Amino acid sequence: MRVLLWQKILPHLPRTLTTPCRGCAGHAPLSTHTDQKPGRPPLLVSRLFQPSNLRDVGQEGRAPGETTCKSQRLMQQAGLIHPSNPGCYHYLPATVRAMEKLVRLIDQEMQGIGGQKVDMPSLCSAELWRRSERWDLMGKELFRLRDRHGGEYCLGPTHEEAVTELLASQGTLSYRQLPLLLYQVTRKFRDEPKPRFGLLRGREFYMKDMYSFDASEEAAYQTYESVCQAYARLFSRLGLPCVQVQADTGNIGGKLSHEFQLPAEIGEDRLLVCGACSFSANVETVAPDRTDCPQCQTGTLVESKGIEVGHTFYLGTKYSRIFDASFTNTQNKSAVTEMGCFGLGVTRILAAAIEVMSTEEGIRWPSLLAPYQICILPPKRGSKMDSVADLVDDLVQQLRETLPSLRGEVVLDDRTQMTIGKRLKDASRLGYPYVVVVGQSALEETPRYEVICQQTGEKLYLSKDGLVDLLRAVETV
Ligand code: ATP
Ligand code: MG
Repeated sequence: MRVLLWQKILPHLPRTLTTPCRGCAGHAPLSTHTDQKPGRPPLLVSRLFQPSNLRDVGQEGRAPGETTCKSQRLMQQAGLIHPSNPGCYHYLPATVRAMEKLVRLIDQEMQGIGGQKVDMPSLCSAELWRRSERWDLMGKELFRLRDRHGGEYCLGPTHEEAVTELLASQGTLSYRQLPLLLYQVTRKFRDEPKPRFGLLRGREFYMKDMYSFDASEEAAYQTYESVCQAYARLFSRLGLPCVQVQADTGNIGGKLSHEFQLPAEIGEDRLLVCGACSFSANVETVAPDRTDCPQCQTGTLVESKGIEVGHTFYLGTKYSRIFDASFTNTQNKSAVTEMGCFGLGVTRILAAAIEVMSTEEGIRWPSLLAPYQICILPPKRGSKMDSVADLVDDLVQQLRETLPSLRGEVVLDDRTQMTIGKRLKDASRLGYPYVVVVGQSALEETPRYEVICQQTGEKLYLSKDGLVDLLRAVETV
C-alpha cells in the first residue's frame, strides 16, 4: 500500500486528528508533541485556521456603507481577519502571530530606552475623565457604560488620566526615580464616526501607549527625543519609510507634537513636505494658503497623503497638575512632573504595512512580521510522491535540528490533492518570505530545491546545504 506523504512525516495522524493537542490548540497531532525537541514539526496548511475567502470582499463581508481598501481586501481574502461588527474584527491566527512579532519589536525598542510595561484596565471611571474635563470634550467618540450600581464608565480610548492617577496614588516620588516611562499594548475603544479600511480605522484596535514623567521641561524634551528616535528605529527595522511631521496637539492637550506618517494614497492625512529643507507638517498645522516653507522660506511645500501610524505629545503639566503627580526635587521641595505621551497604532501598522508593500494579488510583509517565514511545497499526490516523501522528511528534520530559531516558522502545504501551481498561487497571496518547492529537480542525482524569495521575486535552485545556509540568515523576532 502506498504510504501518503503526510502519514510518513507525521505518523499516527489519522488517530490524532480526532484527539488534537490541548496545549497548542490542535496545530499538530498529539503524538508529535512528546518528542518535539529540538524543534516542533511543521504546521500543516490543511490544519491552519485561515479561512480563505476568494470572493470579492467589496461585496461580501463588510457592513453596508463601509469603505474597503487593498489591505482590508487582501487580509480578508487571505483569512487574516474576519469582520465582526463595524470597525471590529476577529484577528485570526496568522494575524495574531504577526502582531506578537510586532509587539516583541516594540517591546525591544521601548525597553531599550527604559520603558517598563504595564497593563491598565480598559474600564475607566467617569470620575477621572470628569476631572480632566475630557468626559464632555470627547463627545460621541467615547464608549460609555454603567455598572450595576449606576456607576459611569468609559472604555479607554487612551490612558493619560488612568496612568497619571496611578502615579499620583503612589505617594511622592523622588527625582531619583525619574524619568519614569510606563507603556502598555492594549485594546483601545473609540466610537469612530466612520470606521473603515479594515484595521486602519477600527472602533476597537490595539495601541501601544507610553507615558513619561520627568523632573524638568528640559529632561522631558530629552525623553521626547529618545522616544522619537526609538520610533524611527522601529520603522526602519520594519522597512517602512515613515516621515516624522509636526502635528496638532488635538484634545490630548500639550505644547509639542509630531506624527509618524507612512506615505500612502489611501492615507487620510494630508502632509506638506518642503522640497528644500527637512520641514514636514500635517496640513492642519500650516496656514491654508501657504505654499512656501515656513522653516527655510525658500522651498515650496509639496502635498502628499499619509497614514498616521504613531503620534508623540509633550504634555507638560496638564495632567500631572490635575491629578497631583508630583515628586521631591533636589532641593527636597515638591514639584509636579513633566509629562509626555506616545502612541503607536499596532493594528494600524500591520494593515498600513500590507497596504504599502503588497501587490494587488498578494500580501507582502515587512520580513520580520511575516506570520510564517517558510512554506514547503511537496508535489501533487501521485507517482513522484514516494521518492520525494523521504526528501521532504529529511529537509524538515534538518531544519528542525540545525535552525532552532525557525521554530514555529515552517509550514508544510500538505494539500497534495492540489497541483503545485495552485498552491504556489496561494503561497504568493499569503506572502511567505520563502517558498521551497520539492519538485522535479529534487529527484535529480544531487537534489535541488526550488526556492522562491517572495520579497525580492528571486528564484533559486539550491542543494540542501545551500538551502539551509540561505535560511540560516533569516532574521526572526
Ligand atoms: P486619527 O487622526 O487617525 O483618528 P488620532 O490622532 O485620533 O488618529 P491618536 O490619539 O494620536 O489617534 O492615537 C495614537 C495612534 O493610534 C495613532 O497614531 C494611530 O496609529 C492609532 N489609531 C488611532 N485611532 C485609530 C483607529 N480608529 N484604528 C486604528 N488605529 C488607530
Ligand atoms: Mg493622532
